[in-house]
Amino acid sequence: MAIQVLPEQLASQIAAGEVVERPASVVKELIENALDSGARTVHVEVRGGGSELVQVADDGAGIPAEDVSIAFQRHATSKLHSAEDLEAISTLGFRGEALAAIAAVSRLTVVTRAVGAAAGTRLVLEGGREASRDLVGAPQGTVIAVENLFYNVPARRKFLKSTTTEKRLIDEFVTRYALAYPGARFRLSHDGRVTFQSQGSGDLADVLVGVYGAEIAGELLALESASGRGSTVSVSGYVGPPGLHRANRNQITIFVNGRWIRDNRLTYAIVQAYHTLLPTGRYPVAVVFVRLPYEQVDVNVHPAKTEVRFRDADAVFGAVQRAVRESLISGGAPRPVSLSQSQIGGDWRLPGGWDRNERPQFSRHETDAQGSFTLDWRPPPEGGAQYGGDRPEPALMGGEKLPIMRVVGQVGASYIITEGPDGIFLIDQHAAHERILYEQFMAARAAQRIASQGLVASATVQLPPDQATLLQDQLGLLEELGFQVEPFGPNTFVVRAIPALLSRLDPAKALAAVVEDLENEKEPLADKLEARIILRVCKSAAVKAGQALSLAEMEAMIAQLEACQNPQTCPHGRPTLIHLSASQLARQFGRA
Ligand code: ADP
Ligand code: MG
Repeated sequence: MAIQVLPEQLASQIAAGEVVERPASVVKELIENALDSGARTVHVEVRGGGSELVQVADDGAGIPAEDVSIAFQRHATSKLHSAEDLEAISTLGFRGEALAAIAAVSRLTVVTRAVGAAAGTRLVLEGGREASRDLVGAPQGTVIAVENLFYNVPARRKFLKSTTTEKRLIDEFVTRYALAYPGARFRLSHDGRVTFQSQGSGDLADVLVGVYGAEIAGELLALESASGRGSTVSVSGYVGPPGLHRANRNQITIFVNGRWIRDNRLTYAIVQAYHTLLPTGRYPVAVVFVRLPYEQVDVNVHPAKTEVRFRDADAVFGAVQRAVRESLISGGAPRPVSLSQSQIGGDWRLPGGWDRNERPQFSRHETDAQGSFTLDWRPPPEGGAQYGGDRPEPALMGGEKLPIMRVVGQVGASYIITEGPDGIFLIDQHAAHERILYEQFMAARAAQRIASQGLVASATVQLPPDQATLLQDQLGLLEELGFQVEPFGPNTFVVRAIPALLSRLDPAKALAAVVEDLENEKEPLADKLEARIILRVCKSAAVKAGQALSLAEMEAMIAQLEACQNPQTCPHGRPTLIHLSASQLARQFGRA
């Protein structure tokens, strides 16, 4: 094949691919342009997750009539004039690529009127080619409407994820920029419904409430700027207290000089600052703004401008980590989340000492404060513990699915110890209970008889816009699983009923746990999602480690575990019981 220079149109489409990966990239680029133009108001309207329409309207400086067409040419920018300018970029845009790239792969309409201009210009481009141009009356500022994104790039269109995913990514960009520019008023709507807005008060705290809801926003700790000490790096923003953690790093948001970036190292600096304060595998919530002289950061790394290089990366890393650490320490004595004394130490109980009226108690050191959680066991089986006498005798249990055993006691308020003809068994009470609830829930699901518990006082829950979008799309599935949740204003839901299993939990917490699972599944398949939710429900409802159990409760638990099809593991596949055989014990003691 002969070598040829690609036709301009095709070259533009190829170049566009690097800048405009998906609808959310269009939203990002248009918001950045609006902010660069000095806008105080930015309205984002989306239809069909952005493939039908992304429209961004601003009240910024507008584009002078004579420049409108030029703005859509490749490498056309008003923000950069010379190579020296590249050394210190203070605007979000500078490559002059976004408008050309977006126009090349969509049908684009711009209406803009520059400051002081008598009339506005309306320009329509199809696949980058000018289709029409008029003078129009228009308010000062710019409106860009992007329709039929990727209509002429089927390969890209095919790779778009579900509408839900695209919506969520758009939500993330809009809320990020609202956080970084609290002085601008943002409004986002999907398919005609407003899902997020900020007031533009200039106060970051106001935006935090809009993004995270009043409850979480109230818990966030302000970051102290740690510049000075010879460092030119300043850090501000908010971080969550150690008690507020997430299953992934999505809620760690970093801005450098007002630009949202991805940076694994800085993310790590933030996570590191929580060292020992978070359970393993959990991540904090953080909104961190780094400011440093423009010439100390290179933003020209990738067309999407979401990566940067620091001249002194270690200094930035150190400043961020120090700032987060200091605010965690001064923000009110965070306690390490680890096994507490009562969970590993003493608290041995032997059956002889049981008080049959003893009520299950909640450990003082319970890490997962769920309030009191009274158990409701079925009475022990025939021939089980004797309730008549003062000293109930442990019954013989097991024999079919489980080995024959009888309860000896509980250790660390977490494990049930039993003995059998061949040694001792340790049962993880949480894992065992999860297994029991799981099989009961699955049976109820199969029979379409999942018990739902109506709430006397319905609870209102506000979620970040991206989570709200996810939840909105799964309300039907949640209903099948015993939740009754209704939309109630922007990003707010009323919980009217929850699965009966969870009736002792705070309904808002119960819902939040489930939403977190929706979030973790990027491309949720209905049955996979359902399975996750069921697992989550059982996990939340199961008795926790750290809760003392009475003999009757322990026996009831073993009886119910015995009735399970797969009693040996919890639904996540971890063992429910460990066996120490008589011969193992003998060996350990040097007797054999
Ligand atoms: P860049 O932002 O890198 O300069 P773009 O392709 O995004 O490149 O935009 C090209 C030019 O169009 C900008 O430099 C700016 O002059 C103008 N422009 C784009 N969007 C707006 C807007 N919303 N308001 C005013 N001017 C705009
Ligand atoms: Mg731009």
